[in-house]
Amino acid sequence: MSEQTEAFVTIGLEIHCQLLTKSKLFCQCATDYIGKEPNTLICPVCTGLPGSLPVLNAEALKLTIKTALALNCDILPQAVFYRKNYFYPDLPKGYQISQYDLPVGKDGFMEFSFQGKRKRVNIKRVHLEEDAGKLIHEGPDLPSSTSGVDFNRCGIPLVEIVTEPDLSSPEEAREFLNLLRRLVRYIGVSDGNMEEGSLRCDANVSVSLTGQSLGTKVEVKNMNSFRSVYKALKFEVERQREMLLNHQTIEQETRHWDEAKQVTVSARGKEEAEDYRYFPDPDLLPITIDSQLVEEIKNTLSELPLERKERLMVEYELTEGEAEVLTQEKEIADFFEECVKLMPKPQLICNWIVTEVRKNLNMMNQSIDKSKITPQKFVELLKLVEKKEITANIGKEILEEMFKSGLTAKEIIAKKGISMISSEKELEKIVFEVIEKNPQSVADYLSGKEKALHYLIGQVMRATRGQADPEMVKNILVKKLSGED
Ligand code: ADP
Ligand code: ZN
Ligand code: MG
Repeated sequence: MSEQTEAFVTIGLEIHCQLLTKSKLFCQCATDYIGKEPNTLICPVCTGLPGSLPVLNAEALKLTIKTALALNCDILPQAVFYRKNYFYPDLPKGYQISQYDLPVGKDGFMEFSFQGKRKRVNIKRVHLEEDAGKLIHEGPDLPSSTSGVDFNRCGIPLVEIVTEPDLSSPEEAREFLNLLRRLVRYIGVSDGNMEEGSLRCDANVSVSLTGQSLGTKVEVKNMNSFRSVYKALKFEVERQREMLLNHQTIEQETRHWDEAKQVTVSARGKEEAEDYRYFPDPDLLPITIDSQLVEEIKNTLSELPLERKERLMVEYELTEGEAEVLTQEKEIADFFEECVKLMPKPQLICNWIVTEVRKNLNMMNQSIDKSKITPQKFVELLKLVEKKEITANIGKEILEEMFKSGLTAKEIIAKKGISMISSEKELEKIVFEVIEKNPQSVADYLSGKEKALHYLIGQVMRATRGQADPEMVKNILVKKLSGED
């Protein structure tokens, strides 16, 4: 590779998250459209019938303010809804109600560390808007070569988050997007599910060979997973870089990610704002956002995931990786801290949550707060392991059972007839028997053959059907054989 191949990459993201409200943004229709028959969750308002009037859903506004606050934005005292006009069959009114120069939040930022460096991504704006419907190109009721339209999604509230062009690689963009997703989930404004479309991301990319000024930006749409956002960015950076190296000019345009071909393809020239003929929606009054409401929402915003991660590292001496996993979801972090209150062994609790608890949650496809595990039950189990009344392996089996039945560790032990072999007394008895039965191995060990000890440990493990703690068995054996006791 020649030196010329270096390129300066600039990325800005526009992220839409579906807000977790029960009803749509301007009408009473339900928002749980997934799996519903097309056009069953609609009314005159969200399908834009003449004479219908929108009424703002206050909860959607609150969630937008919450998002903006979590991203350190200034909340504007007055926000205004605009009509963004364009024609597309999924948009029955012929315009989308969105915001423009007076959004809910402005000038925020998100800070995080990436590859050992502190990174700050500025947030241009956070605004509230409605979703459009969906075109359907195939289905049992559709004659061939026709398309249908489903308006169920029309009018569902979205929060749009627009970053400044502050990201400088596809990797950094991926990390930011992950953190943003975690944030919206954590504060409970969206479930952030990209595959189901409740989080969507458009990416603006430009490349410059000199880095002296920003290149021409290209907007890439149509990615429906984190992976495809990353891949589309990688592809686009490479495409633009090669064009520039060949002295071609980049057109400002919108491109679509083609998942099957793994390329971006030109969709249309990028509209300028004026193409949308934005104007304030005369059916909706400007929203006054009073500072008391903002204060109230601020108070409901507990510690955010990044702050919590850093606190967990300091307070419980966890590694960054451990704290990161624990704060992926608020419920997990809450669970961890509840447990530590009951049993001051943060490292042990963390180890078990990071591995075993998460494994079980994945297996059962559950979140911890909806599972049958409680901090009390979990800690009771860990205490048994701690006191060596059961081995870690038995503990793991019991945990799995606990996830399924919700019984306590002691109940499971009683039910399954698990003997608490590793209580030292009982083990000593078994060790004694093994020594009695294997005089040759004992003699071998005493004459210096380490291997014989492994054989004896194996015999004890067999006698306990694997339920003993091998470390403990070894200690007892060595003690007995050396005649201490
Ligand atoms: P427009 O008016 O064309 O919508 P905006 O200034 O609103 O442009 O920016 C839209 C998005 O494009 C933002 O996320 C912003 O960060 C990003 N962006 C702006 N300029 C560039 C650039 N030169 N390269 C990459 N992204 C950019
Ligand atoms: Zn409706
Ligand atoms: Mg814009």
